[in-house]
Amino acid sequence: MSPIRLDLAVSSTAVDHLHSTVLVVLGHQKCGAVAAACSGDKMPSRNLEAIVDRSVRVTQAKTYAKPMNLLEAAVKENVHQSAKDVLANSEILRDAVKAGKLTVIEAEYQFDSGAWLVSTRPQAVRTSHSSAKKQRPKNQGLTEGSPQLP
Ligand SMILES: [Zn+2]
Repeated sequence: MSPIRLDLAVSSTAVDHLHSTVLVVLGHQKCGAVAAACSGDKMPSRNLEAIVDRSVRVTQAKTYAKPMNLLEAAVKENVHQSAKDVLANSEILRDAVKAGKLTVIEAEYQFDSGAWLVSTRPQAVRTSHSSAKKQRPKNQGLTEGSPQLP
């Protein structure tokens, strides 16, 4: 089983049988895999390539429109894409989010400060009971602090 499939199976089991209510998709500052993808060098494995390649291409498109630090932006995009992929590929996790039983949190660990940057993007918290969350300003991006657990 590839690492992605294995992670998905473990996550689905945690939600289905152990009733986990929070799934944290955690990236980290200065990620070597994302840096390798940004450099255009060949990735060490096909799995790594599959994980970060799309994120880097999306980020490159955004960078073209608005100058930004490619690696920093790609790390954030990789977390966001991974959170989307997890939900796209697991019916169990999707159903749990729709039922309001699971919150997917996108986060990035900062080696410099030891802080977590936690995303408040609507995608991560879209549930059937999101009337209060709809009032949040859109696209807050990543904010520093501890994850807000439900
Ligand atoms: Zn990494």
